[in-house]
Parts: sequence; C-alpha cells; structure tokens
Amino acid sequence: MIKEINTDGIVVKSNKHGENGRLLYFITPDHGIISIVKHGFNSKKNIGRSILQPMNYVKLEIIEEKSKYKINDFELLDNFEYIRSNYERIETILNIFAVLNKLPLNDLDGNRMIFFLVKKLLEASDKKSEFSSNNTEIYFYYQLAWCLGINFNISDHCSICNSKDKLEYIDISNGNLLCKGCKSTSEYSLPISENLSKFLINISNVKFDKIYKEKSQKDHIRKEFINMFNLYTNFHINHKIVSGI
Ligand SMILES: [Zn+2]
Repeated sequence: MIKEINTDGIVVKSNKHGENGRLLYFITPDHGIISIVKHGFNSKKNIGRSILQPMNYVKLEIIEEKSKYKINDFELLDNFEYIRSNYERIETILNIFAVLNKLPLNDLDGNRMIFFLVKKLLEASDKKSEFSSNNTEIYFYYQLAWCLGINFNISDHCSICNSKDKLEYIDISNGNLLCKGCKSTSEYSLPISENLSKFLINISNVKFDKIYKEKSQKDHIRKEFINMFNLYTNFHINHKIVSGI
C-alpha cells in the first residue's frame, strides 16, 4: 500500500549513503524521527542539496511504501541563517542533535513536544541577541525531561519543609529540591551546587529566549547538570541520555 505523508520536519542528521546518496533523518511532529535515503544527493541537478541540510526546517511530501520512505517534494521553511554564521551556536545545536538521534522515541505525544522544543531551540538561537551554549544545553535537557514524561519538580523551596535556604540536594526519585535538613528523607538525594540549584530554580518557569537573561553558566555547572540528569533519566527510563560530556 502506498501512503502519502505531508509533514514538517527538521533535519537532525545526514549520513553518506553509497556513492552519491544521503541518509537523512528528520524529526517530525507526528512521526518521530524518520530516516529517508535520498539518491543522487550530490549531483548538480539536485536542488535539495542546500535545502536538505542539518538544522533546516522543511515542509515535506513523503511517499511511504512497504514501510520505506521516499521524498516526493520539499520546500524550505527556515534555514536559521544567523545560527549558521556563528560557530558556537552551530556546535551547541549539533551536540543536542547528537543526543536526540540516540533517544528512544516511541511516544507520540512526547515526539510532538520534542519537535516543538527543537523548533523553539532553533528560533531562540537564531536571534541576534545574547547566547550561552551552557544555558542552552541545560535548559534543553531540562525541558526534554518534560517531553519524556519524567519532568523535574523544581521550585524555590524544599519539597519537604518549605525552607528556601540552601536547597543543595535533589531527590533523583522525583526531581524535587531538598534542603540539608531534609536530605535524609530520601535515599536517592544527590548533593548539587548552590549555583546549579539557583539556575534550575530560575529557568524552571521561563520561555526559551529568557534563558539568556540569566548569567551564562560555567562549563563545570553544565557537566554537573549532565551527570545529575543522566542519573535522573537512568533512574526513570533506564537510559543515560547524554553521552560524552
Ligand atoms: Zn527541608
């Protein structure tokens, strides 16, 4: 049976395929990540060469036959030109895409949320304003937990005693912050630095472009976050999401 699929997609990976082709991966709102072989990709006649590049946001007409996909038509919606002029921004986004490409994407609602999170990431990074690679990564993964159905429950007070003082522990079993006095209420409490705790409180309720109003976080804070995040996702979905930090 032949089926036609009309969807938007963002190119998240492009691998060489045979002599002249490309294996392209698109994240889509309704079909998760779709991989499609495009033959003759490198030929001069292929106008898709510049359009079907990682990071580009495209409209796609896809033919599905025997669970194989073929691109019938495509149109560029946005190529995020400002990001492309800035090496730090490109690198940050490609790091995030590498993580996305290894995600177990099998929940439809979650996929849709991830697609829109990626779109917001690109839109926020494409503005000629402040940018911070570490703020971007921390915020993206923090929001990704929400899309995966394992959201944190960060607020500005201890989840047990409501104290706002020294919230320097996080309960890996439920994503709550704890104060020193309450850390022993959970066997899964993990110490975190005051810096990271404050940053998580500040970004927990803001939109993507507001994260650049926060102080740009140092590299060791990003690493601390990612270590904690991997413990957290490993606890909840048995999967360490971010590798190689
Ligand atoms: Zn407490």
